[in-house]
Amino acid sequence: MQYYSTNGKAPMATLQKAVVKGLAEDRGLYMPEHINKLPKTFFDAMPTMKFQDIAFNVAEAFFGEDVDHDALQALVCDTLQFDCPVVRVKENIYSLELFHGPTLAFKDVGARFMARLLQYFLLGRNQEATAKTVNVLVATSGDTGSAVANGFLGVEGIHVYVLYPKGKVSPIQECQFTTLGRNITAIEVDGVFDDCQRLVKNAFMDEELCQHMLLTSANSINVARFLPQAFYYFNAVARVSERLKNSSENLVVCVPSGNFGNICAALFGHRMGLPVKRFIAANNANDVFYNYLQTGKYQPMPSVQTLANAMDVGDPSNFARIINLYSQNGSLSAEETHRNITGLISGATYSDEKIKETMRKCYAETGYILDPHGACGYRALEEQLRQGEIGIFCETAHPAKFKEKVDDILGIDVPIPERLQAFMKGKKQSVAMSKDFADFKQFLMNE
Ligand SMILES: *Cc1c(COP(=O)(O)O)cnc(C)c1O
Repeated sequence: MQYYSTNGKAPMATLQKAVVKGLAEDRGLYMPEHINKLPKTFFDAMPTMKFQDIAFNVAEAFFGEDVDHDALQALVCDTLQFDCPVVRVKENIYSLELFHGPTLAFKDVGARFMARLLQYFLLGRNQEATAKTVNVLVATSGDTGSAVANGFLGVEGIHVYVLYPKGKVSPIQECQFTTLGRNITAIEVDGVFDDCQRLVKNAFMDEELCQHMLLTSANSINVARFLPQAFYYFNAVARVSERLKNSSENLVVCVPSGNFGNICAALFGHRMGLPVKRFIAANNANDVFYNYLQTGKYQPMPSVQTLANAMDVGDPSNFARIINLYSQNGSLSAEETHRNITGLISGATYSDEKIKETMRKCYAETGYILDPHGACGYRALEEQLRQGEIGIFCETAHPAKFKEKVDDILGIDVPIPERLQAFMKGKKQSVAMSKDFADFKQFLMNE
């Protein structure tokens, strides 16, 4: 399968190139040339199939032309070593718990899948090329760094550098990438998240550095990071259909969104035939997508800090993919594209006050503990679900990952899962770094 750029000015790329490079030469995002529909027989069988088997069918539709059958099967099995349950919260509202992976983040699936796919391509290269390590640079304010570090841990031929702002990452998140060692180097930057991101961007643009080492990135611009998240939505529909017969015409899927990688994967699923009636993108106060739905105008803004900080994004990178999907690769007018999008997706935006209120109300009424991100999704369903519809919202983070906030808002003591506690026992190792690019470059040149 070939991949084209959403900016339309770069040459087509193979899957290997799209994964190794991340971003196209014209700074656009890669899109698969075809989105294969899955057959009716698959959808009929789905309610009785396991998560791994469903995911393999989806993976084959995306990557089957480029990855050997057995290797892809092994890759999917290795990625999905955990469950993805759908829990009934009340009446017709279900929580799709995406936080059962190794670091309790939904990003675990994409991170692990990307690591294994990169490794598959590296092993396939000739001897000479294989001698060169691929270096993954990732700037993080918490969640992405831990998922990527754990996904790539121990994968031969790849080294990961996680850049994080000193004192700005929660202690639980920090220990998830500073205690690993091996092929993971944590870099504690004396600055804020934007400084980390700037250091990474400068590194990609530095010719001398790129001559010295092979560099790539692992955020949701990468096709191998965001596409595997489609697995979750097929599984969700299967699990709900398993419980409620004939439900599938009335399903509404609501995704708390930041960079829009996760909902974009769900929309790819829809294009493949997944029976979902409509989608809701729930935002916190960073609501440029919500405003686009209302006005047809896309106006990026500087991000503002909120309680749901993994969604603090002022210019979501995957917006370009959504526009591309519903404009038939740029051939429809802006109005037609907007009409297509609003026909399928509605929006919601919530202040921190409303997030808190929702967490308290849901806990009091149902006993279910929402984290601040999931709370946006739950509330959007409560407000927008119509008669006869069944709503599924993504609970994107385990509440223990935001323990201080959740404890404070609900007045409870959220237990920390064993898996998180294990990380907290490890010894912190990190490299102290100034926010000057010259220092960071010097460090990498000596690696
Ligand atoms: C990354 C993240 C999001 C946002 O997902 P996008 O794919 O960027 O839209 C939401 N909630 C949590 C907890 C996250 O870590």
